[in-house]
Amino acid sequence: MIWWGKIGKWFNQIVNIASGGRLSDEEWDEIEALLIQADFGVELVSEIMDALRDALKVQADVKSALKEVMLSEFMPDDSRKLNTAAGRLKVLFLGVNGTGKTTTVAKMANYFKGVGRSVLLVAADTFRAAAIEQLVEWSNRLSVPVIRQMPGSDAGAVVYDGVASFKARNYDVMLIDTAGRMHTKHNLMEEVGKINKILTNQLPDVPQENLLVVDSTIGQNSYNQARLFRDKIGLTGIVLTKMDGTSKGGVILRIEKELGVPVKFIGTGEKLEDLEEFSPSRFVDRILG
Ligand code: GDP
Repeated sequence: MIWWGKIGKWFNQIVNIASGGRLSDEEWDEIEALLIQADFGVELVSEIMDALRDALKVQADVKSALKEVMLSEFMPDDSRKLNTAAGRLKVLFLGVNGTGKTTTVAKMANYFKGVGRSVLLVAADTFRAAAIEQLVEWSNRLSVPVIRQMPGSDAGAVVYDGVASFKARNYDVMLIDTAGRMHTKHNLMEEVGKINKILTNQLPDVPQENLLVVDSTIGQNSYNQARLFRDKIGLTGIVLTKMDGTSKGGVILRIEKELGVPVKFIGTGEKLEDLEEFSPSRFVDRILG
């Protein structure tokens, strides 16, 4: 995987610089520059630098110190587990168009099917005909049923249909693709809020995840809408896509810190199997060897 290598290279440079013992101002500047390159963002970089300074006072092993600092910045591992205790789950996928939402729905469908769960897809992005078609195509490829209506129809009505089918056929997992942007005077948050309400009212006993899909190569630009989704709808997790692309890796922590929502999955390519559960300890182990 390309991106582990990229961020790993910078971290190994940091280890080399810091291994010399007491660090000069120039060396600290070099470390700062490497962290900035890795895309942690200015605020987080100074936080990591301070923590590293403190850690190196009591710890001579730079690698362990860095690992400790990085791990303490992430949210705890158990906050990342999907709530599948009841054996059933409904997932509302949110996010701006083009971030990889529909692809992620397909990847998750593939995953759940692979572990023997019955899956139902719901095409609730009714504003774009292409979005419906894309989900139908995935449903054919995966042999997983999809609930859909004509483009332009009411997204809430599609979700009602989905709920009825989910109940009638006793599916295990329902994955709902939603719109990321409206082309009409409709209000996106109102629409998504309505869908959310239908799901919680109609299926109160089925655990629900509201996953925001964020393109890791865009980072900063998606924060505003991400915040809106978080504040108006509520989020249980983030899926960070395109980590295989131009992403430098550090954005993973930045997004989690800035939104206060755990990154639960990362997308590492366009293929169905290119979805990973995100684990900070694995991440830190990989980038620091
Ligand atoms: P949506 O508009 O949010 O539903 O986005 P799509 O699912 O249509 O994805 C937009 C583009 O991003 C497509 O070309 C996908 O193949 C691509 N894509 C999605 N996830 C990933 C990923 O993890 N890595 C890469 N490299 N491409 C991705």
